[in-house]
Amino acid sequence: MTRIINSDYRDRCRSDRSDLYPVHVLKRVDRPTTILNEDEIQRVDERRGGFHRAGLGEFGERLQKEYKRFVPKHPLSGALVTMAGALGNMVDAPAFSSDESDTPWGVSSWTPMKSIAEHQAPLTDDSEAMARHIKETAYFLRADMVGICELPPYTVYTHGKHDGKPVELNHKYAIGILIDQDWRTASAFNGHDWISNSMSFLSYSSSGFIACILADYIRRLGYPARAHHAMNYQVVVPPILLLAGLGEMCRIGDVVLNPFLGPRFKAAVVTTDLPLAADKPIDFGLQDFCDKCGKCAEHCPSQAISHKDKIMYNYYQKWDNNVEKCTAMRVGNQQGSGCGTCIKVCPWNKPYTPFLRTVNWTMRNIPSLRRVGIWADDVFGYGKPNDNLKWWLDLERVNGDLQVPRRSKSNQLFIEPEH
Ligand code: SF4
Ligand code: SF4
Repeated sequence: MTRIINSDYRDRCRSDRSDLYPVHVLKRVDRPTTILNEDEIQRVDERRGGFHRAGLGEFGERLQKEYKRFVPKHPLSGALVTMAGALGNMVDAPAFSSDESDTPWGVSSWTPMKSIAEHQAPLTDDSEAMARHIKETAYFLRADMVGICELPPYTVYTHGKHDGKPVELNHKYAIGILIDQDWRTASAFNGHDWISNSMSFLSYSSSGFIACILADYIRRLGYPARAHHAMNYQVVVPPILLLAGLGEMCRIGDVVLNPFLGPRFKAAVVTTDLPLAADKPIDFGLQDFCDKCGKCAEHCPSQAISHKDKIMYNYYQKWDNNVEKCTAMRVGNQQGSGCGTCIKVCPWNKPYTPFLRTVNWTMRNIPSLRRVGIWADDVFGYGKPNDNLKWWLDLERVNGDLQVPRRSKSNQLFIEPEH
């Protein structure tokens, strides 16, 4: 097919959004900073994920029961997970095509789904320009950060958790989309109180919303695309973020940490065959930083994070983490909803103010000052909850009614897994 380049197309695609976060100043490397034996890594079954296993009762009856209510037990996270759930069916087909509807907005005519436009749009052959355009589109949709990589086949799940069917996905590229969980709220909470799940699901639903629209847009341009978000993934997200230059592996475990957001984000992905130039992985010194820090391991309420050195797991390098303990805390939290204590205490969880930009640059570029930075973080009390900024209501739905949460008589923080 002949592709027409609009005369001013390249210029219109040139913005680098450096006003948001200066991703262009990050050191780019050919390989991620942790070992990834890509020829050997085995695909995994989504049904082995911690939440799914909790729902199946593998961690005991009490956690199985709690699994059904652990997000909607707070009214705000309940509203957010409902919206995220509504996006679960929007991942790979538009709900309607306005061309085929009988109103200008297409709302009254939900025509049969047509997944991909029959004819490809006249686009540029320049994959760099298309990558910039797709990033700009994601930023227009309010993404906080976007990166692109080729889709590694090993990131595709073997089976989906919803229907247990084998997953087939052969797209060539993956677009990672990050959404901040909100610094102001992160500075107010203690890591595992009643707003924690709302922070997660704010980012899950927002990133899912952006991914669904972006995938639909690409399909309307005539290329296959699928959104992957918390309510409907077909891919394992962390390696995609790693390869797309959106962060490095951190001590929290199977978590990628971003130099400007820390671990305070959730991500969605769009996979596609639209030709896009890939980004490179980044190196901002996090492997050395996590070696020196260890605050997440120290403060994790369920001791799910390792204090030890990295291990090899399924042919990739990571810090060990105990999925069962972490799931038990997030599902079975008796004094809040969910958990993000590791996010709360991490020194990279910061706002991006002029002063902290300088600190951020120093931590990325001067290894000898990292211990001082970690110490100063405690001195300035960054890991502590700031009660003056608390805005949410502590509420818990019990037997259908909302009530002010009461501490359990045993003062138990979370339900321990049983076998
Ligand atoms: Fe630990 Fe909570 Fe982080 Fe899980 S979410 S690793 S329980 S601090
Ligand atoms: Fe790494 Fe420290 Fe953050 Fe943990 S708290 S992820 S050790 S920087």
